[in-house]
Amino acid sequence: MPRHEFYLPVKRELAMRAAHFCSNPQCLRLTAGPRSGGERGLGTGHAAHICAAAEGGPRYDRDQSETARRSAANGLWLCRECGDMVDKDIGGFRAEQLRAWKQDHETMIAEVRQHGWSSSIELLRSGQMAPGLAREIIALIEDRRTFWARFDAEFPDRVRMSIEGFRHDLTRLRRDCAAGSPLDVVIVALGQTVRHFFDTVERFDLTTLRCDSGDPDWRAFEAALRALRKSIGYQTAALADSYAIPMQGEYAGYLPRISE
Ligand SMILES: [Zn+2]
Repeated sequence: MPRHEFYLPVKRELAMRAAHFCSNPQCLRLTAGPRSGGERGLGTGHAAHICAAAEGGPRYDRDQSETARRSAANGLWLCRECGDMVDKDIGGFRAEQLRAWKQDHETMIAEVRQHGWSSSIELLRSGQMAPGLAREIIALIEDRRTFWARFDAEFPDRVRMSIEGFRHDLTRLRRDCAAGSPLDVVIVALGQTVRHFFDTVERFDLTTLRCDSGDPDWRAFEAALRALRKSIGYQTAALADSYAIPMQGEYAGYLPRISE
C-alpha cells in the first residue's frame, strides 16, 4: 500500500500558514529558530496528516483521492511531540477536531498579524517596561476562568459578562499606560481580540443559547470562544515570557509554551 506523503512545497505552505507554531491549542510551541553556533536555522515542526497517508493509519479515508490526501487541506502543522501523538493516534483524535485546531490557529495568526502585535512583543523583550502593569494584565486573565476553564462555555451569557468585565478592566489599565508604548499596544491588541469575538457572536442571543452540538449557532459560538481563548492564551504566554513572569496555578497548565 503506497503512502501518500506531502511534497515539500505543501509542508512549507503548512508551516508558513501556522507561522511555524504548533497548531495544537494546548501546546503552541514555536517550531523554528536559530541553530546554536552557526548561521543555519533549526526546524522542529511536522506536517501531520488529518486523514492518514496510507490505509491502516489513523483517520484513513478510503474515499479520498491521492491528490486530496497529499494536499495542504489534509495537513496541519504541529511540533514534533504533538505530531507524534497525532500520527500514532494517541488520544484518538477525530479529523473534525484536527480541522478545528487548524482553523482556530490560522484565525489567531491572521489576527495577530493584522494588529502588529508581535512587533511590540519584540520591543517588550528588549525593554521590559512597566513590569507592574504587565503583571496586572496577566493577573486579570488568570482570574477569569472564561479564558481557560472548559465548562464555562456551557453558559454563553456568563461568558459574555465575564468578557465584558475584562474589556472594562483593560480600559482602566490603559489609563496608566503611555499612549503608543509597547504595553499600550498589547492592551489595544487584547481589546481588539475581544471586539473581534463580540463581532462574531453578535448575531446570537446569548441569553437563550444553550450547549447543543446539533445547533449550528452553538457550534459557531463555541468556535469563536475557542479562537478567543487561543489568541488570549498566546498573547498572555508571550507577555509572561517577555517579562520572565512565572505562570502559576491551574491556568499555567492551559497556557501555550512560547519558548522551549
Ligand atoms: Zn505541539
